[in-house]
Amino acid sequence: MAKKLADYEAKRDFKRTPEPGAKVPPTQTRAPRFVVQEHHARRLHWDFRLEKDGVGVSWAVPKGIPPDPKKNHLAVHVEDHPLEYFKFAGEIPKGEYGGGQVLIWDEGTYEPVKWSDREVMVTLHGKRLQGRYVLFQTRGKDWMIHRMDPPQDPDRKAMPDKIVPMMAKLEDKVPRPDDVWGFEFKWDGIRSLAYVEGGRVRLQSRTGEDITPRYPEIHPMGRALGSAEVILDGEIVALDDKGRPSFEEIQQRMGLTADTEIRRKMKEVPVTYMVFDLLWQDGHSRMEERYTDRRMALARLKLAGPSWQTPPFEKGAGQTMLEASAKAGLEGIMAKRLDSKYEPGRRSGAWVKVKNRNRQELVIGGWLDGEGKRQGYPGALLVGYYKEGKLVYAGKVGTGFTDKILDELNAKLKPLAVNKNPFEAGAAPPRAAHFVKPKVVAEFEFVEWTRGGQLRAPAFKGFRFDKPAPEVIREGG
Ligand code: AMP
Repeated sequence: MAKKLADYEAKRDFKRTPEPGAKVPPTQTRAPRFVVQEHHARRLHWDFRLEKDGVGVSWAVPKGIPPDPKKNHLAVHVEDHPLEYFKFAGEIPKGEYGGGQVLIWDEGTYEPVKWSDREVMVTLHGKRLQGRYVLFQTRGKDWMIHRMDPPQDPDRKAMPDKIVPMMAKLEDKVPRPDDVWGFEFKWDGIRSLAYVEGGRVRLQSRTGEDITPRYPEIHPMGRALGSAEVILDGEIVALDDKGRPSFEEIQQRMGLTADTEIRRKMKEVPVTYMVFDLLWQDGHSRMEERYTDRRMALARLKLAGPSWQTPPFEKGAGQTMLEASAKAGLEGIMAKRLDSKYEPGRRSGAWVKVKNRNRQELVIGGWLDGEGKRQGYPGALLVGYYKEGKLVYAGKVGTGFTDKILDELNAKLKPLAVNKNPFEAGAAPPRAAHFVKPKVVAEFEFVEWTRGGQLRAPAFKGFRFDKPAPEVIREGG
């Protein structure tokens, strides 16, 4: 063919004319090509192809091309692909072989260094990838891919495998001045860091426990991040029937370990990961950066999916935000200093939580003995409300007492002591209870009513002398 076209070719300069050139096997005159295709198949992976003898010699690399010589990745040798495939990007229909989206992640040329049946060494010249790699067979179709050169980014660090989340100080007013704070809603759920690498997510609890298997609906967030390597901070929440995050609901998902149980509950009580911080990205910590910069980088990740969200923050306007949170039935707000860095494991005051709490008058029906400093005083009050003439037990309250109030409680309650349990409905009060005639009314603050009709996180606020006990009924919730 080359001979036949020699005249055609001799008359033209193909650098200047758009006419097609002669079909001389082109591999002899130009460097061979490589391509890496990100393949969103059932399992996300990257297809690595090298042009050789008219075909694309191919490997499927589940975790992508390793950026660091310290980490080798599995590369499964697969069938040769036609060279036309190097330009392929698009959607393989669902149900077809390899169904899912294919993106060109990188392309370029390579220089072969070594090529045998068991070892392939190449120097890549791509848009993303530069440097020498070796692929070597370990067993059957299983090969490994190893970067031989130092990381392309010389400052790149290995991703840490445990960060202790930063904590917030509780305050009862929105911090001021308004314009140095960013405000977020406070989500009532489970704190979790997400470590994402090679399209895979690992969820870690506040205490460092691996809780990944418990929340399968968050796993696809990994493929949404493609080859990005990140550590995210956020809260896993479950919404109640009014669409509010509810700690009650998420508790149903917390203790589960059996896979079938998890899958079943997942349909009943689905969770959403509310992402609010970005601690690590592509080999670099972002924890030293300012909150606003971290939030900007986080926004660029565009994390919004069926089971993960990036709720925005507001600069200033904390009071409005707090009111909005109360209206929406949320637990409260978090204030974060705009110029603050991320301080793992610390409660420095750069993060402040302000909680909305419900108030409710309740009748005191007993107490539990105090210990230590509270010896001789109530350690907790047992409280309730009236429903259809019956006193319903609503739980115990152990905080919110000053010394003066403890004295007053002793003075008021001891003369009312009785043997008989005054509670006629609701859960049973603790066995160690001392009971009183239900006469004393006080006001309490609490987070929410549990489904079992108990107060969550209640605190004593003050006596109510103006209210006769039998008129104390349950409000709201
Ligand atoms: P608390 O559990 O009352 O001590 O409040 C602190 C906790 O609030 C954190 O550890 C998180 O689990 C949770 N939280 C909810 N929303 C946010 C948010 N927007 N930013 C930080 N922490 C949050």
